[in-house]
Amino acid sequence: MINKSKNFLNRIVEEDLNAGKYQEIVTRFPPEPNGFPHIGHAKSISINFGIAKEYLGHCNLRMDDTNPTTEDTQYVEALKDAVKWLGFEWDKEVRYTSDYFSKLYEYAIQLIKMEKAYVDSLDEEKMREYRGTVTQVGKRSKFAQRSVEENLDLLERMKKGEFKEGEHVLRAKIDMASPNMKMRDPLLYRIKDAHHFRAKDEWSIYPMYDFAHCLSDYIEGVTHSICTLEFENNREIYDWVLDTLELEPPRPYQHEFARLNINYTVMSKRKLLELVEKEIVSGWDDPRLPTIAGLRRRGYTPESILNFCEQIGVAKANSVVDVAQLEFSIRDNLNPKVPRVMCVLDPLKVTITNYEGSEELEASYYPYDVPKEGSRKVPFSKEIYIERDDFMENPSKGYFRLTPDQPVRLKHAYIISCKEIIKDGQGNIVEIKAEYYPDSKSGSDTSGIKVRSAIQWVEANKAKEIEVRLYDRLYNNEAPDGIEDINPNSLKVIKNALIEPSVLPEKIGVRFQFERHGYFFADPIDYSDETPVFNKIVSLKESSSQKRKVSQNKPKLQAKKVQIDGEVTPMTQEEEVLFEKYTNELKLNSEVANTLARDKQLSSLYEEALTTHSSPINIANLITNEVARELKNKSIDELKFTPKQIATLIKMVDDKTISTKIAKQVFEEMSKNGEEPTQIVESKGLIQISDPAVILPIIEDIIAKNPENVEKYRAGNSKLFGFFVGQVLKATGGKANPKVVNELLKNVALS
Ligand code: ATP
Ligand code: MG
Repeated sequence: MINKSKNFLNRIVEEDLNAGKYQEIVTRFPPEPNGFPHIGHAKSISINFGIAKEYLGHCNLRMDDTNPTTEDTQYVEALKDAVKWLGFEWDKEVRYTSDYFSKLYEYAIQLIKMEKAYVDSLDEEKMREYRGTVTQVGKRSKFAQRSVEENLDLLERMKKGEFKEGEHVLRAKIDMASPNMKMRDPLLYRIKDAHHFRAKDEWSIYPMYDFAHCLSDYIEGVTHSICTLEFENNREIYDWVLDTLELEPPRPYQHEFARLNINYTVMSKRKLLELVEKEIVSGWDDPRLPTIAGLRRRGYTPESILNFCEQIGVAKANSVVDVAQLEFSIRDNLNPKVPRVMCVLDPLKVTITNYEGSEELEASYYPYDVPKEGSRKVPFSKEIYIERDDFMENPSKGYFRLTPDQPVRLKHAYIISCKEIIKDGQGNIVEIKAEYYPDSKSGSDTSGIKVRSAIQWVEANKAKEIEVRLYDRLYNNEAPDGIEDINPNSLKVIKNALIEPSVLPEKIGVRFQFERHGYFFADPIDYSDETPVFNKIVSLKESSSQKRKVSQNKPKLQAKKVQIDGEVTPMTQEEEVLFEKYTNELKLNSEVANTLARDKQLSSLYEEALTTHSSPINIANLITNEVARELKNKSIDELKFTPKQIATLIKMVDDKTISTKIAKQVFEEMSKNGEEPTQIVESKGLIQISDPAVILPIIEDIIAKNPENVEKYRAGNSKLFGFFVGQVLKATGGKANPKVVNELLKNVALS
């Protein structure tokens, strides 16, 4: 049985559980409340809370508040909000390192008594000098010879505030010759004459991270102290403190993973603070920031962020993730569920001279390939607005929209053709006079008129004015350094966009796709009935200008053309023929058809796959998504799989042998080693299990093993439903048909 993406942390936790090292898994998320949390913290949150959830333990939220000068309660609130919004619950109350100040102080006294710590009074410069270098051993301070009594006395007076900052520090007595520089008598306490937002003025000394962190973990009964790689060298101190104090077991152990880095993004709270303080952005929740508050305000969903964290995985080596992957995750999350509506950002008036009166047109919210249904009424009359760039007087080749000679379909409505162009004194087009074809109504079109695209529009008198905020990357530089790399065009505000009237009454918390523009979200702060404001979450496609050049030794056979919200480059004759065929005969949506038609490699793979198994839509989806992604980094002759194998894979999906989720997994294997998909499915036992007779015993087993959770669920904790589904999927290696599992749990096992 295969384990669903088990990472090294899962393996460690499982080994510890199997060895009986701990009764219960306890993790913690330990931020310093000195700024708003960002997407990097989301990764840490999803790992720490995720592990606790998966192994039925718990996770503490602990504010690491040992630096009184930078901390603030607004940051504490922001951290709590972020964890909750991502869907996690911390154990009991929020904890604070400052709650343990007295205990930590006692441990310090104990170390002094064990002659394992001393008060040092070297000045900063001497201290640095004595520490030595990587190639040179250090030298211990003469103050290390102070007696236990003297050390105890000095520490107490430091605590009471009798000395100035920098006069004394408390250090561990470890090894001034250690090859690990961190072990050369690290600082445990420093004098800081500052007011603490919780401990007030009680303390004039504050513990250092290396002393406070391991002991706070121990005090809370943490088992796995998961942190980022930059703390690798601190692990030795972590172990030294806990072992030297001879604490009663069990004790926690530290494990490191690679921190998340994203290109075009800064992720340090210090740099984010600078953007906020210098008012380069509107605040910590500016939708251009990678803060949780910013992403949330922009319209990202918690699931999209968690999916992103899952997809990038947990690694032991640092790397940089492409920001396009984050954008992909929100697009992927919204595509199957948000309603499509029509909005015109740059209106051009069209008067349909042969139309009289008005009507309401039935318009579906979702395209046919989305498994949701629903519709609204859209008003129509002789006066409408279309997007200015959906008309071209002198069209370039391959321009598919309205021109003096080319009709266009108004989405959900009629086909119109241009009869007259009205210009102002400067020659700017101010209006189009058009005619419509009465028998071309969407859904009952008998006109026989050929059009090449459908465009969005709004009825002139009923449309509502809205403000639209379009965001681009905050930095121009792939590896931004600071504010000098800021992109001056990261925010574009459109004050007079026009939207169909159905949208406004239901705006709150609802996400929309504005047809052909992207995904949008009502700004939760600035939206008002007088000025409705919508944020652009993400465009419909990764734009070609933003595409990262993938460093590659081999030249690519053919650069990939990507179309954004309309045509950029005209199609060749050949491409046009393909496009027609894909949309008309094979019923692909125009986006997919366009991608295929414009890419020789993809279309030839596609055509060949179709000769083996005729499933035009599903094969097209796999090719334009998964295969296209492979081709981003590879040339076509580097692909390990054949078109025939693609067809075989899709056939298994169509036959319901495997789920689409498993298909993606099989595809990944295929692209690694070119193995036959049927073989992969067989050897890994991936065949979807839909038979209730097979699934039910597994469910019963899980129910028998988790009596407490069953009780809690029955007592009303409905959140646990997900836990049970997860366990069944886990027990079947992701093969159980989720629909069947849900039904069985709901209607049989837990009812
Ligand atoms: P920053 O450098 O942004 O200020 P930090 O590491 O100082 O971040 P803390 O508030 O001390 O932030 O961190 C809380 C937890 O979040 C720590 O366990 C830390 O390792 C983790 N964390 C912070 N940034 C990232 C990141 N980019 N990727 C993964 N985990 C992170
Ligand atoms: Mg920090």
